[in-house]
Amino acid sequence: MAVSRDEILKAFDGINVWSRGSERAPHKPLLVLYALGQLSRGGSNSVAFRDVAPKLTELLKEFGPTRKSYHPEYPFWRLQNDGVWVIDDADQLERHARQTDIPKRELLDKDAHAHFTDEIAQQLERSPSLVADVAFRLLDAHFPASIHQDILNTVGLDVTLTETVTRRKRDPSFRGRILTAYEYACAVCGFDVRLGNQVMGVEAAHIQWHQAGGPDEEPNGLALCSLHHKAFDLGAFTIDSDRVLVVSEQAHGQRGFTEWLLTFHGQPVRPPLREAYSPAADYLEWHERQVFKRPPRELSTAS
Ligand SMILES: [Zn+2]
Repeated sequence: MAVSRDEILKAFDGINVWSRGSERAPHKPLLVLYALGQLSRGGSNSVAFRDVAPKLTELLKEFGPTRKSYHPEYPFWRLQNDGVWVIDDADQLERHARQTDIPKRELLDKDAHAHFTDEIAQQLERSPSLVADVAFRLLDAHFPASIHQDILNTVGLDVTLTETVTRRKRDPSFRGRILTAYEYACAVCGFDVRLGNQVMGVEAAHIQWHQAGGPDEEPNGLALCSLHHKAFDLGAFTIDSDRVLVVSEQAHGQRGFTEWLLTFHGQPVRPPLREAYSPAADYLEWHERQVFKRPPRELSTAS
């Protein structure tokens, strides 16, 4: 019997990733998004580890936490346990002794291939709106909205939000409280343009992402202009425990870079109306560990 649309959505919703508290593990979601991209472009449902490994490594570097090494073999292997993914001839592959994982070398040597289960692939191929729903639910569950489009572009997935998709409910008062706390101006650059009575391009950002359990409260929020919001969520800069902005060594550029980012390096961010609203150390630390692209640029000690 064919699996229903709801069962498919439930299967992808159930992908097991948050195993270590608030530590980010975007591996499986990024692999699924990559495979959805390949499928939706009319490509095969079969994903070769050899092809996906370098691309997944790039995705992990760009949209995951900074790590000493990257392991595309983990999601490729472990996604089997979630009921959506099958590895061809898995019993022919030799695992690490006494471990459940598999060495990257083994997947490369044996030219391992994997695919979505046939039932799931058939439905995905038939229904572009189902592809979109799965993609947006994964994005909603694991990444802030400010970077959804960047991820979709990188995996080559051209989808728009359908009406059927059910998205997570958010606390609607968070935005208002954060913008009030920062007087409707970007905490980095002070941008506060209005169009008539409407604030334009100033947003409430979570420091510890909502997707990683960050609460909707003032000490976990910052008012940021659209540009600084995206740069913060991509990890181009972070804010240290002294509330000083620190730019990543990986961020660079010519036009705009100095004026919009480097000029704020080593500068304190603008404080909110009350000390009690100030960014809390725990959340800032989470951002530094899980989002910021290390290493930081040196802070001048001259002054
Ligand atoms: Zn700004």
